[in-house]
Amino acid sequence: MNVLVINCGSSSLKFQLINSESEQCIAKGLCERIGIDGSMITYSPAGGEKEVTVTPMADHTDAIRLVLEALTNEKTGVVKSLDEIGAVGHRVVHGGEKFSGSVVITDEVMAAVEECNDLAPLHNPANLIGINACKKLMPDTPMVGVFDTAFHQTMPEEAYMYGLPYEYYQKYKIRRYGFHGTSHSYVSKRAAEVLGVPYESLKTIVCHLGNGASVSAVKNGKCVDTSMGLTPLEGLIMGTRSGDIDPAIIEFIAHKENKSIDDVMSILNKKSGVLGLSDNLSSDFRDLEAGYNNGDENAIRTMKTYCYHVAKYIGAYTAAMNGVDVICFTAGIGENAPLVRRLTCGYLGYLGITLDEEANGKRGEDLVISTPDSATKVMVIPTNEELAIARETVRLVG
Ligand code: AMP
Repeated sequence: MNVLVINCGSSSLKFQLINSESEQCIAKGLCERIGIDGSMITYSPAGGEKEVTVTPMADHTDAIRLVLEALTNEKTGVVKSLDEIGAVGHRVVHGGEKFSGSVVITDEVMAAVEECNDLAPLHNPANLIGINACKKLMPDTPMVGVFDTAFHQTMPEEAYMYGLPYEYYQKYKIRRYGFHGTSHSYVSKRAAEVLGVPYESLKTIVCHLGNGASVSAVKNGKCVDTSMGLTPLEGLIMGTRSGDIDPAIIEFIAHKENKSIDDVMSILNKKSGVLGLSDNLSSDFRDLEAGYNNGDENAIRTMKTYCYHVAKYIGAYTAAMNGVDVICFTAGIGENAPLVRRLTCGYLGYLGITLDEEANGKRGEDLVISTPDSATKVMVIPTNEELAIARETVRLVG
C-alpha cells in the first residue's frame, strides 16, 4: 500500500509518499508560505529531478490539491491516480492525556484533538486544518493520526508531575507530556533491532538533537521520562529555545528590559538557545562546529554548555532507569555532528564509555560508535519519523 504522510504546520506542509511493502519513499516535498505571497511547492520524485514551482496557495486545501496533482502528474508523477494512495498518516503534535497511541481519524477524534489545542496553540490547529483539507479531497481514504506525545504517555506520575499546586493539574492538565515521541520510539526500537536483542530487555537513552531537541529514557520498551514538558520549550538548550531556566528569570528580564510576558516568551522561544548563547553567531551546528575548531570563544562556550546539558540529562536518566545499556544519538545534530557526540561522551567516563573515534566520524547509517569493550554502548541511529508514521498507519488500516 502507498501511504501519504502529512506533516502540517501553520504555513507549511511536508509530505512523503511511502510504499509500505518496500518501506521506500516514492516521492516527497514541501509546500511553503501557504496563504502568504510567494507560495511554493517543492516536489522530488525518488530518482527524479527536484522541481520548485512558485504558485498561489490560498489555504491548506489548495496546498494538498497541488501535492495530489504533483503525485499524479502524467510526466513526473509517481502514481496513476489517487486510488493508488491507500491511506494518509497525519503527524499530530499534541494528544494530551487522551491519546496514548495512534488512532484512525473519526469525527470524535477530531473533536478530541481540538480539545488539546490549548496545549499546542501553534501546532494542533494547523494539524487539524491539514486533516480537514485531506478529508475534503480524499473523502474515502482512511486517515490515521500519529501523536508526538503518545509514546511518552507511559511515564509514571513522579516523572510527569510538576511541583505546582495540584489543582492546576486537575483543572488545566498542566504536566509533562514530552514531544518527538515518534522519533524516540522509532530510534529506541531500531537500536534493539541493530543490536539483535529484545526491545523489552534494554534500558535506552535517546538524544534527539535537532533544531528542537529532547532526551528520553526508554526502559523495557516503555518511555519512563523525557526532557520536554507541557510545551517543547523545556529541557535541553536548542537552536533558538532556551530549554530549562530558573522560572524567575522571566520576571527578572521583564522588569529589567520593560517587556511583557509575551515578549519574554518570544525571546525564550526564538532568540535564546545556541543562537542567543553564542551571541547570535548561529543556531546552526555547522557554523558552531566550524567556530569551535577555529577557536571562536562564542562557539566554544556554546558547544561546551550544550554538550554539558545533554550529558546532565543522560546522568539523570541513568538514575531514573537504575542503569543504561545504550545511548542513541539522532536527528540533524545527533546524526551529523561528531564533535557534539565526542564532547558529550567526554562526561560519561563513569558509565565505562569509550568512543571509537573512527566510527564516530562516519554518518548516514545505523552505527555503534563505542568500542567493543565499552561498558555502555553508544549508537547513531538516523531517525525516520515519516516511515514510523507510515508503519502506524498501515498497522491501523492495513
Ligand atoms: P533537524 O531539526 O533534525 O532537521 O536538525 C536541524 C539541525 O541539524 C540544523 O539546524 C543543524 O544545526 C544541524 N545539522 C544539520 N546538518 C549538520 C551537519 N552536517 N553538521 C552539524 N550539524 C548539522
